[in-house]
Amino acid sequence: MSETSHYLCIGCPLGCRLEVDTQGDEILEVRGNACKRGDTFARQEHVDPRRFVTTTVAIEGAPWPRLPVATAGSVPKHVMREVCEALHGLRLEAPVELGQVVLPDALGTGIDVVATRSMERR
Ligand code: SF4
Repeated sequence: MSETSHYLCIGCPLGCRLEVDTQGDEILEVRGNACKRGDTFARQEHVDPRRFVTTTVAIEGAPWPRLPVATAGSVPKHVMREVCEALHGLRLEAPVELGQVVLPDALGTGIDVVATRSMERR
């Protein structure tokens, strides 16, 4: 007997409501997606939901108190909170270059967290 799971596509502002029919571990059909990206998202979301993390980290010696950072790739959704907590405890020192790794291999995910802008020394 098949089951249907429901997801909201986050690929664009349209926010298509997706339905994934499964039987055991097999995905039978994806519906509700207005484009191919939605199909890909639904299949990924069903077996291994992932998200990019974007936030800010404290920085000293810079013109601004916080530096914007992001994961260089998506991380498993269930570790997002722990990644944010690890970043919350970081204290960077200016200068920092765009793309500089500020947290390598975040929580063993294999994904680095990098600076999304440069920040010079004050
Ligand atoms: S399925 Fe395509 S059109 Fe719909 S929300 Fe996702 S990316 Fe946007």
